[in-house]
Amino acid sequence: MSLMSVYIHIPFCVRKCLYCDFLSFPLGGQKDPDSLCCSDKSRLCAESAYGGTIEDCSDSADKVVEAYIEALKSEIHERADSYDSRTIGSIFFGGGTPSVIDAKYIKEIIEELRKYWPLAEDAEVTLEVNPGTADEDKFRLWKEAGVNRLSIGLQSVHDEELKMLGRIHTYDDFIKCYEGALQNDFSNINVDLMSGLPGQKVSDWTDTLETVLNLDTPPKHISAYSLIIEEGTVFGDVYGEMEGDGSRNIAVGEAKAEAGLREKYLKLKDLDLPSEKDDRTMYHLTARLLREKGYNRYEISNYALEGYECRHNLVYWNRKDYLGLGLGAASCMDNVRWKNTAELKQYISVVSHDKYEVEDLSSADRIFECIMLGFRLTKGIDLYAFKDEFGEDFVSRYSRQIEHFKKEGLLSVENGYAALTERGLDVADHVILEFLS
Ligand code: SF4
Repeated sequence: MSLMSVYIHIPFCVRKCLYCDFLSFPLGGQKDPDSLCCSDKSRLCAESAYGGTIEDCSDSADKVVEAYIEALKSEIHERADSYDSRTIGSIFFGGGTPSVIDAKYIKEIIEELRKYWPLAEDAEVTLEVNPGTADEDKFRLWKEAGVNRLSIGLQSVHDEELKMLGRIHTYDDFIKCYEGALQNDFSNINVDLMSGLPGQKVSDWTDTLETVLNLDTPPKHISAYSLIIEEGTVFGDVYGEMEGDGSRNIAVGEAKAEAGLREKYLKLKDLDLPSEKDDRTMYHLTARLLREKGYNRYEISNYALEGYECRHNLVYWNRKDYLGLGLGAASCMDNVRWKNTAELKQYISVVSHDKYEVEDLSSADRIFECIMLGFRLTKGIDLYAFKDEFGEDFVSRYSRQIEHFKKEGLLSVENGYAALTERGLDVADHVILEFLS
């Protein structure tokens, strides 16, 4: 039985968060007064990406979603021919906000997958959920469809931080969503948290962590990432402008004000990112508080109670096969990697879904990835698997780097694994670079 994982991309959200560079579009038809697609026409909503106009979007959200799901089903059918001997070990619905669409579509997609591939008996089926987009009926339907793990995007327990990020929900919305999930027998839940927010103090982050850890039923898994300011996002624009020419600041500031977002933008401009020192303090605090509560840090930013590591993400980090379906989804099967088109109109309209940026991974490419991904796992790089795959002894090949980092207390080699120590994980990028140079 040869396993593969399946990633399904659902690129729709209620509105675009201000820091988000994921391939996602607000469903403009929802007429959210804060939606950036309506107020800032340079930012696409799903309807305009599909070819409609912003002015006539109000009735078309359902049609775009329906057409997208049909396109997904046809992609499943196309890919099935090439990988018909596989069994699905995990499915991950990511986005976007998969919980924003009608739950019947999640059921339909799982059924479509099962037409072509058997699902392993213990398959992990995860759905990303944003508070404010789930209700009793959806929980029930997801459960019926076979979803057995939810990943809830909370980010912060402070409403003012959530608002500043452009999130659609409050902490109370999260509690309703979380309790709804528990009541519907979803016990395997991840909560996403984010540190390093503009204006965030160490005490604010401590409060977020402690509040989540002290829930009556704490989540089985916590992902804790630092905010990254990405180009092409509202945060990226604002911070780019702050660092650039002052006169441009004013011009752009005025334009945004015209779009009715003045208050939001002016507030952003007043806020500073936490200092490097505070950022480090938050990072160490995360590891310490979660360890004290029994969470195992199994990847740099991911923590789980025993037995609740995300099996789907471990497939990526261990470089196993995964098939990505949907807009912009990436796949890697039998050491061939490719991406789908990122154009919504094209994805929905084409008869056959071409593969883009197809790459046959060479042995050097795979060693590169093995180091990049393997050192992010606290377990480290499996030395036997390395020898098996590449015919070379990892310790001999990298003896200089291994000796150096062992002396510095950043790396250990034991029980068949080369792994970064806790201190090594703090400077993982630096260590990885040395191995790759
Ligand atoms: S909910 Fe997620 S995918 Fe959607 S805009 Fe916000 S961060 Fe991006």
